Amino acid sequence: MKKAIPFFLTFATIVSFAFVTTNTGKSKHINVVIDAGHGGSDFGATSSSSNEKQIVAQITDKIKFLNKNENVTIHLTRIGDQFLSLSDRSALINKIKPDLVLSLHINQNANVAKSGMEFYVATESIANEKSNEIAVELRNKFIRNTTIKSSEVKKAPFYILKKSEVPAVLVELGYMSNLDDREYLTNDLEQNKIAATIVEFISELK
Ligand SMILES: [Zn+2]
Repeated sequence: MKKAIPFFLTFATIVSFAFVTTNTGKSKHINVVIDAGHGGSDFGATSSSSNEKQIVAQITDKIKFLNKNENVTIHLTRIGDQFLSLSDRSALINKIKPDLVLSLHINQNANVAKSGMEFYVATESIANEKSNEIAVELRNKFIRNTTIKSSEVKKAPFYILKKSEVPAVLVELGYMSNLDDREYLTNDLEQNKIAATIVEFISELK
């Protein structure tokens, strides 16, 4: 009987290790890159009172702040108001190899009546299928959580989308040229809602 005890303990240790491994496998760590468009000398879409680079940076900061999930790491391409080329952004993304890249932008159009969110993926991307799947789910979440309308997921050969070797979605959060969209995008509470929607979505990624 004396000999049997150590054997039993060893067996129990193996079992508990196996259990820990299975458990860790379930709560996979998620890495996401938030790519705030433009920055520095590149203002992106502008109005007399606001600009794209500032709004997407504000929302990016809120995403980073609101993420309290220890299984999720939010990486940023640009830190603060810096100019970062598209090739530098994609090089950084492909080095991190995240589960998802979300590139945040704000639209502009000569037709001031044009409004709403738009979601883009690139057919040229090696992760096109997964990107499309994620874009559809993200769009559905925005439809549920926010009041702004949104178009179907569109295809466009945007540089960040084409060059990312991981799933990537470019989100045009609304139109700077449309008064209602502009008021929505510059409103602190609405920005919080946008950020919270993205944080919630990321935490549910599989
Ligand atoms: Zn932009």
